[in-house]
Amino acid sequence: MGATKRVRKRFERLWEEVARPMGMAWWKVTIILSADRERFKRPNDTECLMICNADWRYGTATIDVNVGLTDETNDEMLEEYYVHEMMHILVNEMRQNEDCLAHEERVVTGLTKAFIWMRDHLKEGQ
Ligand SMILES: [Zn+2]
Repeated sequence: MGATKRVRKRFERLWEEVARPMGMAWWKVTIILSADRERFKRPNDTECLMICNADWRYGTATIDVNVGLTDETNDEMLEEYYVHEMMHILVNEMRQNEDCLAHEERVVTGLTKAFIWMRDHLKEGQ
């Protein structure tokens, strides 16, 4: 299986097992796989795995995925990053300008942890 197909399958699984049960199906979320790692470079020379853009007015979002970096990311971490991006989509309506991005990151990180802890708690109860 080629890298792109393998990554596509990982994201299809995340959609079915994580995003859909979370209630994200009323959003149209498009995954864009990109092999251009330069696009994902941050000013501090680290790379991000995904870049999310959402438009709450229309319920649409795109997640650009750094395909090369996904191969270095295990399923557990990929799921956490994916949930993080889903939370960005859910709180997108609150973003008024780029100045509040640090607060949004903090909120989204907390929501991601809450989601994963609750999901794990429910799994343990089965
Ligand atoms: Zn973020």
